[in-house]
Amino acid sequence: MSEVDFDIGIIGGGPAGATAASYLSKAGLNCVVFEGDLFPREHVGESLIPATTPVLADIGFLPQMEEAAFPRKYGAAWTSATEQSIPTMGFKGMSHGFRAAEVEFHEREQLGVNQDYTYHVDRGKFDLLLLQHANSLGAKVYEGIRIRRVDFSGPRPRIIFPLGAGESSVTVRMVIDASGRGTFLGRQLGLKVSDPVFNQYAVHTWFDRLDRSALAVNKEQADYIFIHFLPVTDTWVWQIPITDTVTSVGVVTQKKHFKASSSDLEGFFWECVGSRPDLRDALKNSQQVRPFKAEGDYSYAMKQICGDGWALVGDAARFVDPIFSSGVSVALNGARLLSGDVIAAAEKGDFSKGSFHTYETKLRRAVGNWYEFISIYYRLNILFTAFVQDPKYRMDVLKMLQGDVYDDTEPKALAAMREITRQVEENPDHLWHKHLGSLRAPSAAPLF
Ligand SMILES: Cc1cc2nc3c(=O)[nH]c(=O)nc-3n(C[C@H](O)[C@H](O)[C@H](O)COP(=O)(O)OP(=O)(O)OC[C@H]3O[C@@H](n4cnc5c(N)ncnc54)[C@H](O)[C@@H]3O)c2cc1C
Repeated sequence: MSEVDFDIGIIGGGPAGATAASYLSKAGLNCVVFEGDLFPREHVGESLIPATTPVLADIGFLPQMEEAAFPRKYGAAWTSATEQSIPTMGFKGMSHGFRAAEVEFHEREQLGVNQDYTYHVDRGKFDLLLLQHANSLGAKVYEGIRIRRVDFSGPRPRIIFPLGAGESSVTVRMVIDASGRGTFLGRQLGLKVSDPVFNQYAVHTWFDRLDRSALAVNKEQADYIFIHFLPVTDTWVWQIPITDTVTSVGVVTQKKHFKASSSDLEGFFWECVGSRPDLRDALKNSQQVRPFKAEGDYSYAMKQICGDGWALVGDAARFVDPIFSSGVSVALNGARLLSGDVIAAAEKGDFSKGSFHTYETKLRRAVGNWYEFISIYYRLNILFTAFVQDPKYRMDVLKMLQGDVYDDTEPKALAAMREITRQVEENPDHLWHKHLGSLRAPSAAPLF
C-alpha cells in the first residue's frame, strides 16, 4: 500500500486550485481537490487581464474559453465625474474629463499572448469549466466537501473532512491551500494579518439591458471594462459585460463609508451611484437580475505563504483591492509558479519550505508591484490617469494593466509614480496636494 493517499491535496476548486490541479495532473502527480461548494456557484471577480492567457494556454484551456463564448475584453476605460482639468507637472496635454483614460491591449505586445483580447467571465460558468478541465486531466475532484483542518503532527499532512456524523481523512505529500478569501490554512496556522491601510468594501449585482455605452466616449468600446470614478473619496464603480445583455456592476469603497451610512446594501448602492446621475439613470433604465451582495474584510496579507509540506496560492495567500482586476491573474500565475516548484519538489522527494523558494520570491515581487501600484492609485488617483496618457510611461503602465509583472524588473513607471507621490504628499502647496486620497498606504512591499 502507498505511504500516502495522494501526492498533492488541494483545498478549494476556484481558479487557483483548479489551475494548480491542472498543471500538477499534467505532470503526472496524483492530485485531489476538495471544494466546499457545489459548482456552479456565484463568485465575484469577473474581468480577466491578459496575463491569464499564457496560463490558460499552458493547461490547454483556451479552446474551452472560446467555445464558451465569454465576452471578449479588448481594453479598459476609466471615466470621471467632472470635466475638470488637472494642473500639469511636466505632463503635457492632459485632461481629467469625463473620459479619464483608456487602454487597448493590442497597443503592447506581451510574451506568450497571441491575441489582442482577454475575457469577461460569468464566474459560475468559468470556475465550473476550469474545475472540470482539471478533472479531465486526471485530478480527483470532490465537491461539497469543506475541509475542517489539516493535521501536521504526523510524518505527512492529513486533510480532515466531515463524513456523515463523523470525520474522515486523506494523507498527502503536500497540501496546497487555494481556499480563497476563506484563507483556510492562514487562519488555522495563525498567519493572517489584516492590511493596515486598506479596509475595502464592495456592493455588487447584475443588470439586464444596461446601456453600456451610456458613459462611453467611444461607443465601440462599450464592451470594455469600465471603471467609473465617483466624486466620493476612494470610491469607484465597475461595469463588466457578462453576456450580450447582462452587465455586472459593483461599488467599491472604504468600509467606513458603508458603516457611516444609515442605508442597507441596496440603499447604499443607489446612494453611491447617485453621485453620477448619468450612471444612475442608465442603471434605472435596466433591470436588476440578482440580489445585491456585499464583500467585506478582503484586504489582508499572510506572514508566510509556504512552509514544510504546505503552500498558499491565490486569494488564500493575499488580497488587496480589485481596482486593476488582478485577482484571477494572480491566482492563475501563482498556481503556475507554485506548480513548477511542486513538480521539482516531487522529483527530488523534498517538500520542505526551501523547495518553494522560486514561487515565494516571484510571487512576493509581483504582488509587491501590484500593491504599490494600487496604493499609489488610491493616494493620488489623478497620477494614474496622467501616467496612462503620458507617452513616456503609457507602455509601462499598460504592462502592469496587462498583469505582466512576473519578470525581474520593477516597472519604470512605479519608481516615477512613487517619487511624484512623495513630493505631492510632502508639499502642502503642491498643485496636486488637494487631490490626495485618504488611503495613505506606505510605498512598501507587502507583509509576507
Ligand atoms: C469586490 C471584488 C471584485 C473583484 N473583481 C475582480 C475582477 O474584476 N477580476 C479579477 O481577476 N479578480 C477580481 N477579484 C478577485 C477575485 O475574486 C479573486 O482573486 C479570485 O476569485 C481568486 O481565486 P481563488 O481560486 O484564489 O479563490 P476563489 O475563487 O475564492 O476560490 C476558492 C474556493 O475555495 C473553496 N473553499 C474555501 N474554503 C474551503 C474549505 N475549507 N474546504 C474546501 N473548499 C473551500 C470556496 O468554496 C471557493 O470555491 C475581485 C475581488 C473582490 C473582493
